[in-house]
Amino acid sequence: MTIRHTIHTIREATTPLYGEREAESVARLVVCDRLGYNLSQLVAHYEEECEIADLKVIVEELRQGRPVQYVLGKAEFCEMEFEVAEGVLIPRPETEELVYRIAETAGRGARILDIGTGSGAIAIALAKLVKESEVVAIDISREALNIAERNAERLGVKVEFVEADALGDLSALGTFDIIVSNPPYIPQSDIVDMRKNVVYFEPHTALFVPDDDILRFYRATAENATKMLREGGSLWFEIYEKAGEEVCSMLREKGFTQTELFEDANAKPRMVWSRR
Ligand code: SAM
Ligand code: GLN
Repeated sequence: MTIRHTIHTIREATTPLYGEREAESVARLVVCDRLGYNLSQLVAHYEEECEIADLKVIVEELRQGRPVQYVLGKAEFCEMEFEVAEGVLIPRPETEELVYRIAETAGRGARILDIGTGSGAIAIALAKLVKESEVVAIDISREALNIAERNAERLGVKVEFVEADALGDLSALGTFDIIVSNPPYIPQSDIVDMRKNVVYFEPHTALFVPDDDILRFYRATAENATKMLREGGSLWFEIYEKAGEEVCSMLREKGFTQTELFEDANAKPRMVWSRR
């Protein structure tokens, strides 16, 4: 089978779920991974014969909706390769935007806390991007922390990972210049509109909050931040696109006088910055 044919096979299996464009990139990801090519090498070798021993299994898993990142066991984030598996959320492009915004404004040697670290994506990327930073990251899931620890080690950065509940008092972790969180924020009732690949395969503890308390994690983190943020320190959130105003007014009620809402590359309000 040629590369062209292999891509066609994968695309056919995934188009019903992802649509043609995304199915094409899923197919390319798989073939690049298995052949060790980058995208331009792939295009240059389209008519070459290729043998992917586990192609049948891969195609079947993709057809059932298993995200390609779980199938391959890896995801790209901020130009780094992260190990991922069913126990952690697949890091998203909008979260990369959050990281780059924070990195641009963080001072050298900043002490940074990442709440709900999952694969460790935010914590590890910031540890790489912010010179001499000291990064602490928490999650309630031991499974996630194990993956995050392996990611930090493989990517050669030091992050202190702690098993802790974001809804409790975190002040024992000390004080920080930057506190960041991409917490669970999708209202439970949105589940009916979400894609099968997310709902059936990604951890629900990473995604959902009760409809009647969608600010739960933001409120708890704001409370911790009032005790844990140093003078002039920044609080950064990734948010549910419809919750921007609610998050900002909750922050103002808690004494954060400066709040700013940022849009992502798709022009959706997805990031909040705040300072007391
Ligand atoms: N930071 C990662 C990222 O941006 O890709 C993962 C974000 S995911 C949306 C939310 C994370 O919060 C999950 O890893 C989940 O395990 C964690 N989490 C959920 N409830 C928590 C709690 N009560 N305390 C601490 N972490 C929690
Ligand atoms: N942005 C993710 C999604 O839409 C959810 C991340 C989160 O809940 N923090 O699936």
